[in-house]
Amino acid sequence: MNAAKSRTRVGKYELGKTIGEGSFAKVKFARNVETGNHVAIKILDRNHVLRHKMVEQLKREISTMKLIKHPNVVNIFEVMASKTKIYIVLEFVSGGELFDKIANDGRLKENEARQYFPTTFNAVDYCHSRGVFHRDLKPENLLLDSNGILKVSDFGLSTYSQRDDALLRTACGTPNYVAPEVLNAKGYDGSAADIWSCGVILFVLMAGYLPFDEPNQMALYKKISNAEFSYPSWFPPDAKKLLSRILDPNPLTRIKIPELLEDKWFKEGYKPPCFEEEEGINVDDVAAAFNDSKENLVTERKEKPVSMNAFELISRSQSFNLDSLFEKEMGIVKRETRFTSQRPAHEIISKIEEAAKPLGFNVHRRNYKMKLQGDKSGRKGHLSVATEVFEVAPSLHMVELRKTGGDTLEFHKFYKNFSSGLQDVVWQAEGKNEGKTEAQNEGKIEQSR
Ligand code: ADP
Ligand code: MG
Repeated sequence: MNAAKSRTRVGKYELGKTIGEGSFAKVKFARNVETGNHVAIKILDRNHVLRHKMVEQLKREISTMKLIKHPNVVNIFEVMASKTKIYIVLEFVSGGELFDKIANDGRLKENEARQYFPTTFNAVDYCHSRGVFHRDLKPENLLLDSNGILKVSDFGLSTYSQRDDALLRTACGTPNYVAPEVLNAKGYDGSAADIWSCGVILFVLMAGYLPFDEPNQMALYKKISNAEFSYPSWFPPDAKKLLSRILDPNPLTRIKIPELLEDKWFKEGYKPPCFEEEEGINVDDVAAAFNDSKENLVTERKEKPVSMNAFELISRSQSFNLDSLFEKEMGIVKRETRFTSQRPAHEIISKIEEAAKPLGFNVHRRNYKMKLQGDKSGRKGHLSVATEVFEVAPSLHMVELRKTGGDTLEFHKFYKNFSSGLQDVVWQAEGKNEGKTEAQNEGKIEQSR
């Protein structure tokens, strides 16, 4: 173990770290080596996809999504396939999930919540007009870019993760955002179901809690089916009126998007986006990836290890303060943190293990990387955290920790407990380092060499 890392290339992309992991896909950060641009790559198991009975629909939806260049929908740039994997190259959205905002600061103010929704509905309506439905709208799929602009992700991709059986689906998390007709019936109108899910998200952002939330599955289904929920007493009456029309259990009488966008509460301060549709986008790559063909396959190649400068590494660590879980970088909230330690690597590793186990985590260790996997399934499935220990200097290590799966709120709770178990390995915890300049920190490293 040292600061050198080997890099993996797929096509013209250099793969970076994993930014998210669901039950069906892994999302990795990557860099286009030709342009230097950052992208996110969603990686699916190709054999699994090709065996999927909805493969034709998936192919059609991904092709359609590649043609859509809506400013509030995560762009699909290209699709590649290797023998075993499908790589969907996506626009990288750097500001995290919209949900991180409420995980950090609690519910949003009326105006703040309101501003995201005409945007979301407009984006959703646009995809619907092209025949693509989301079917899995939830806060984790509403991302913010570095300017705070909302982008809906996973449009057209959810056919793949969808199960016919609502009960089976709940194995991957509770269906708090799912419309009643999706839970009850076999066939349903994707458009009405997406509107319902947006309504649930809007409620959560404004109220700070889920409208339908029951520890017992059957009770939850019943509440959703009857749209049984209550507003906090202070909820704005205009928002209440609108939400009651969205969270209508009957999909036939539920409000439609054009009517929604005419609503006076929504319209306040909203301007629809202007954008041009690009022409001449080719979707042959999607077809090739989703066929049995062996043509145009890419391979993952390991490049020779690139030595990373120690100071490059340490400068990524802007603050050593363990109390701040979320590094704020230009106002961007991240679900990862780093700390430095002067203890030997094996001691850091065993301390991490010791701190994680009593919190109900299984620890998988591979050299100096560890994966902590929560053994209880939360709202978004199992919480998982990736850690890695880097050697910066013989007596200085940097530990990186990031959420790769599970619910953001649950991650916050975990981290609070976890970090208190690590107090004695963290170098200058309790914020003593706060306010120091990078030069001062570098000075410290020099001394310890
Ligand atoms: P889910 O949508 O169920 O959370 P995904 O596999 O779609 O699972 O993605 C996992 C996580 O990766 C997301 O929650 C999100 O935080 C992150 N992510 C997905 N797509 C992007 C993207 N284009 N840019 C940045 N982060 C992304
Ligand atoms: Mg997603």
